[in-house]
Amino acid sequence: MRRSRKVKILATLGPASSEEDMIQRLFEAGADVFRINMSHTSHDMMRTLVERIRNVEAKVARPISILADLQGPKLRVGKFADGSEELVPGQTFTLDEDETPGDSTRVYLPHPEIIRSVKPGDRLLIDDGRLQLRATAADGKKIVCEVVTGTRISDRKGVSLPDTDLPVGALTDKDRSDLDAVLATGVDWIALSFIQRPEDIAEVRKIARGRAGIMSKIEKPQAVTRLAEIIELSDALMVARGDLGVEMPLEAVPGIQKQITRLARRAGKPVVVATQMLESMISAPVPTRAEVSDVSIAVFEGADAVMLSAESAAGQYPVEAVAMMNSIAEKVETDPLYPGIINAQRSEPEATGADAISLAARQIAETLNLSAIVTYTSSGTTGLRAARERPQQPIIALSPVVETARRLSLVWGTHCVVTEDARDLDDMVDRACRIAFEENFGNAGDRIIITAGVPLGTPGATNMLRIAYIGADGKGGR
Ligand code: PGA
Ligand code: MN
Repeated sequence: MRRSRKVKILATLGPASSEEDMIQRLFEAGADVFRINMSHTSHDMMRTLVERIRNVEAKVARPISILADLQGPKLRVGKFADGSEELVPGQTFTLDEDETPGDSTRVYLPHPEIIRSVKPGDRLLIDDGRLQLRATAADGKKIVCEVVTGTRISDRKGVSLPDTDLPVGALTDKDRSDLDAVLATGVDWIALSFIQRPEDIAEVRKIARGRAGIMSKIEKPQAVTRLAEIIELSDALMVARGDLGVEMPLEAVPGIQKQITRLARRAGKPVVVATQMLESMISAPVPTRAEVSDVSIAVFEGADAVMLSAESAAGQYPVEAVAMMNSIAEKVETDPLYPGIINAQRSEPEATGADAISLAARQIAETLNLSAIVTYTSSGTTGLRAARERPQQPIIALSPVVETARRLSLVWGTHCVVTEDARDLDDMVDRACRIAFEENFGNAGDRIIITAGVPLGTPGATNMLRIAYIGADGKGGR
């Protein structure tokens, strides 16, 4: 089973997609990675979903990547005596430390450290920005605000503070317990929400100890400001346009999406474009033209993956949404303008053996019009560097480590296969040719290029290139 596109599809699981046969249908429609949103998933349900995904993985005999998305420091107001209140622009409204239910003049904000950090002039965006307040006075015990726009506030609505540096790390107590649970269950990627600084990633890396890759969600202006450092410390990035579009002006989001995508590509770190990509398909079997165009922009930009949220988690057409993304990706990637647009953003290799070999492999594959680039990669590093080249040919990443194959399933253009390390050079060629043949990447007589490290099986030693013919029986010929 091979996909006929390079960009990967990430589908969020939820009430509409938690059954095993639905997960399988989503995979078959094109989902390569499944996201479990820990904001809405209990530990028991998380374990059930992981088990179901692994069952599907065994049935379809393809590695599948699992991303556990931690909620992060999502701030919320307390409750109201009447459940909600109507406010009037221009009026005064106070957030304070008093737990009594709120009314039309005040409400509890159960985050004392936030109350201490807000300064007069800071904006407070409630309910994804539908209600905007501005702090007029803050004495460390309460924040007195003026209502700027919007009218309605209700129980437990989210609060965003784009102007305030929050004195919180990336992990809440809930995140710590979720992190322990997902690492113990075994997932491939952890997404960190609302990170603000590079230190937030370092903290999680210490806990994860390499058991999962770390994906930083860029959804706060503070993270955009320190993007380069954050990318350096992350294993992957997400352009989290939902919250980004609350915390920053909406019209700034497309430019930031391009900036993050390009910097991540240059660093060779997988980057996911997320949120509202096919939003109307939550309740309709076809998307809008604007949504199709939005998905196409991410594909043309060379993002590693495009993501579905509520469309697959809670919508009425989860399979159709995945299938639609698949069709858009296939169409864009065969557009005559696509190679030129992808090439325009290609980065120079860094001065390493892996990069030099990846560049050479791409050039040889393109010059000779080979069928595939096959890379032996045990840690996944060489696979990532091969993908960074964004070659026209598919990359087949061979790894003896199932966790590597799963993790790389998120990565652009990479078809992952778990296989033992080659015994010797003949076996290296035979194995690569046989797998390329069996996985439908080439026929007898076609040629592939192989990258590997000699001595074989030594991680981090990619140092050779070999062109080989697929033999008559699917074996290596010459
Ligand atoms: P969320 O993250 O769906 O967990 O909020 C993505 C986003 O904010 O875009
Ligand atoms: Mn978010």
